[in-house]
Amino acid sequence: MSQALHTLGVAELVAGLRARTFSSVELTQALLQRIRAHAQLGAFVALDVQASLAQARAADERRARGDDAPLLGVPIAHKDVLVTRGWPTTAGSRMLARYRSPFDATVVARLGQGDDEHAGAGAVTLGKLNCDEFAMGSGNEHSAWGPARNPWDPARVPGGSSGGSAAAVAARLVPAATGTDTGGSIRQPAAFCGITGIKPTYGRCSRYGLVAYASSLDQAGPMARSARDCALLLSAMVGPDPDRDATSLDLPPDDYTRGLDEPLPGASATRPLQGLRIGLPREFFGAGCAPDVQAAVRAALTEFERLGATLVEVSLPRTELAIPAYYIIAPAEASSNLSRYDGVRYGHRAAQYDDLLDMYRRSRSEGFGPEVQRRILIGTYVLSHGYYDAYYLKAQQIRRMIAQDFVAAFEQCDLLAGPVAPSVAWPIGAQDDDPVAAYLADIYTLPASLAGLPGMSVPAGFGDGGLPVGLQLIGPYLGEARLLHAAHQFQRVTDWHLRAPPGV
Ligand code: GLN
Repeated sequence: MSQALHTLGVAELVAGLRARTFSSVELTQALLQRIRAHAQLGAFVALDVQASLAQARAADERRARGDDAPLLGVPIAHKDVLVTRGWPTTAGSRMLARYRSPFDATVVARLGQGDDEHAGAGAVTLGKLNCDEFAMGSGNEHSAWGPARNPWDPARVPGGSSGGSAAAVAARLVPAATGTDTGGSIRQPAAFCGITGIKPTYGRCSRYGLVAYASSLDQAGPMARSARDCALLLSAMVGPDPDRDATSLDLPPDDYTRGLDEPLPGASATRPLQGLRIGLPREFFGAGCAPDVQAAVRAALTEFERLGATLVEVSLPRTELAIPAYYIIAPAEASSNLSRYDGVRYGHRAAQYDDLLDMYRRSRSEGFGPEVQRRILIGTYVLSHGYYDAYYLKAQQIRRMIAQDFVAAFEQCDLLAGPVAPSVAWPIGAQDDDPVAAYLADIYTLPASLAGLPGMSVPAGFGDGGLPVGLQLIGPYLGEARLLHAAHQFQRVTDWHLRAPPGV
C-alpha cells in the first residue's frame, strides 16, 4: 500500500485517512522517502523530518479523538516565501539564509496548525520549496540555492517563480503545495510542469507572512494535480485577516468544492457547461505564441465546446502594454519593500565594513543576487524625482486601462481563455544573457495580475519535446468558483492532469 500513496491526490488522501486505510505518519514517511530519492530535482530547500513526523503524529491523534478537519494529516509543502514557524524561510536568498520565522503566514496557519486568530485545516508541513529569489523570475533560475528542475525534462526549467512547488507536485513528491503569484508565478510553473494552479483575486488570501515582492500584486494560491484538489486547499486558504493584512477582503471563506460535479444551472449532464461563454482574447493568439502551444490550447477549447460552452472572440487591446507597466510597478514596489534588508535588524550583515553606509552597501551587495539587484535599481530609478511621472505614474494609468479592458471583455463572456505562456519550458540557462526575454514571456499572465483578477492554469496537453502546455482561464473579480468548476468539468473528460512525467 505505502508504495502507491504518492500517486493519490488530496481528495483521495483525505478519504483514505478518514477510512483509516493509512495513517498520516505512514503517508508522511512514504513521501519523505520519495523527496530524498528525488533530491536532484532541487525542488525542496528545507526538510525537517522530526518536525513533519511530529505534526503527522499529532494529526493521527486528533483523528483518533474524532477530529475531522478538512485536510487533517495531509502532507503539503510551502513555497519558501511563505513564513513557517520553526522552519527556515529564505525566499531563495542569501539575505535570509539563516532566517527562522517566529510565526506562520496566515495561509500556512490556515492550511496547517492554525493560530490565535484562525482555525487550521490540519495539513502536515513536509518542507519548504525552492523559488526564484524574492519570487523575482520565471524559471526558478534565480534561486541562491540553485535551480529547480522540470520533472518532464531535468535539463529544463520548471517555470517560476514557484518552480519548486510545481516540480514537487508534478514529480509526485507531494500531493499539493502553496505558491505565490505576482505576475504569473503560480500559473506559469503549473503550465510548464503539467499541474493545476490558481491565483485568486487580489485580497482573497491574506498576505500576512508572505515575504513581500510587489505588495499591490502578490497573492498566494494552491498548486495541485487537479482543480478539485486546488478547490480543497483554496477553501482553507481564503478569508479575511483584518488585523494583519489591511488589503485582505472582508468576505467569509467559501467552499469551492461545492457543486463542482454538477452541471451549470439549466445545463444537462452531457453538456454541463451549456450557457458558459468563454472569451478568447484575440491578442493571446497572435504570432508571438508558439504553434505547438496554440495547437494544444485550441484542442482544449474544442473540448470546452463539446461540454456545451460557446467560444466568443474578445479583445484585450492593452495586452502588450502589460509588460512595461508590470516591469515598472513591480520593481518600484520591490525597491521599497526590499529596503528593509539593511543588515541592521535581520537578514545578512557583511562581516567587514568601514562605516554605516559601507555596511549597508556590502550587506546588500552580498545578500542580494543579480536579478534582485537589477529590480531594485530599476525600481529606484522609476521612482526617483523627475522620472516618477514619466514612468511610475504612466504605468499606473496603463494599469487602470488594462483593468477597464477586462471589464469590457467580461460584458461579452463569463470566462476568458488562452495560453499561459507563449512556449513550453526552456532549457536551464537559455535566457541567462537576456533577462528581457524572460520578461516578455510573461505577456499572458501579467494582464490579470495588474487587474487583480483570478487566473488559473489547467493541463491542456503536450507540445514540442513532449513538454506540458497549460490552458489559462481568467475569471471576473471573485470568479474563483466559476474557474474551478469549469476546470473540473474539463478534467472529468480529459486526463492531461493525470499524466505523470517519465520515470515518475
Ligand atoms: N516573472 C514575473 C517576475 O519576475 C512574475 C513573478 C511572480 O509572479 N512572482 O516578476
